[in-house]
Amino acid sequence: MKFMFISSIIALVAAFACTSQSGSTSDNQGPTADTVSAYRPTFDADTAFAYVKAQTDFGPRVAGSEGNRQCREWIAAKLRQFGADTIEMQSADLRAFNGDKFKAVNIFARFNKSATKRILLLAHYDTRPWADEDPDPANHTKPIPGANDGGSGVAVMLEVARQLSITPVEIGVDMLFVDAEDYGDSHSGDESSWALGTQYWVNHMPYSKNELPAFGILLDIVGGVGAKFYREYHSELYARAINTKVWTAARACGFGQQFVNSQAGAVTDDHIHINRAGIPCIDIIECNNPSTGSFPPTWHTLADDINSIDRQSLLSVGSTVMQVIRNEK
Ligand SMILES: [Zn+2]
Repeated sequence: MKFMFISSIIALVAAFACTSQSGSTSDNQGPTADTVSAYRPTFDADTAFAYVKAQTDFGPRVAGSEGNRQCREWIAAKLRQFGADTIEMQSADLRAFNGDKFKAVNIFARFNKSATKRILLLAHYDTRPWADEDPDPANHTKPIPGANDGGSGVAVMLEVARQLSITPVEIGVDMLFVDAEDYGDSHSGDESSWALGTQYWVNHMPYSKNELPAFGILLDIVGGVGAKFYREYHSELYARAINTKVWTAARACGFGQQFVNSQAGAVTDDHIHINRAGIPCIDIIECNNPSTGSFPPTWHTLADDINSIDRQSLLSVGSTVMQVIRNEK
């Protein structure tokens, strides 16, 4: 994914603020005191951490690579183990901006398939082919380990799936693990070069118009050390009520420190395409790191390895997602 520089955001944010003033006012309030409770839904951070480690043990998971294939089979096996009703492997012959061709495979799993109300969780499982933000230019052509960027979102989703297998819920939960998110062009403004797997999925949607999920939550870069999550710009623009729902749930289960109830910059990521497909979708992503002003300093570097993963960050995000799921009726 890619961060849109703040200078170009300010005009957009200002425009949005002007056009949205006649909308809901309650969203501005954020979490209220009566939503705060000591209740924290079960989510095991050690298991989630182990799921990040399992992915990095495959090596880089670049789209079309052997590591990608092995990781994909491991994810599918976990989903089978946790009782998914259906698991679909959706293959697509794709071509990246630089001409690289590969077979991308999205994994789409459904829990409680017959439930009429559903939500969608998604994360990318591929990792960036080039550490093009690494401080050492010699590393710019090497693939990143992708512990946080790729591994963390998948790990949280799989631990959510495991928890749902232990304590089921009545709503349907669909999980989409997309390929080829991070094969994009960081030097041009070509936003369409990113999120290739999601773009393909959206163009071959498994839902009819009247069975769309109520909303979606994208998990990306959710495991950084001391991560704080802000309300990302596009999420706020397209799915503000979902942001409010999630940030309220975070505070209710004791993670108000990690989920800061104010807006951050814009990220080019999978959720943009999910929103365009008619599913309100937010992105939980660390995009306001104090040392960079955007993603954590390990982003798209060789330092995005297992040592850059913080169990507390996985816990805050996983518990919040569990709380959101259990709040839905
Ligand atoms: Zn990335």
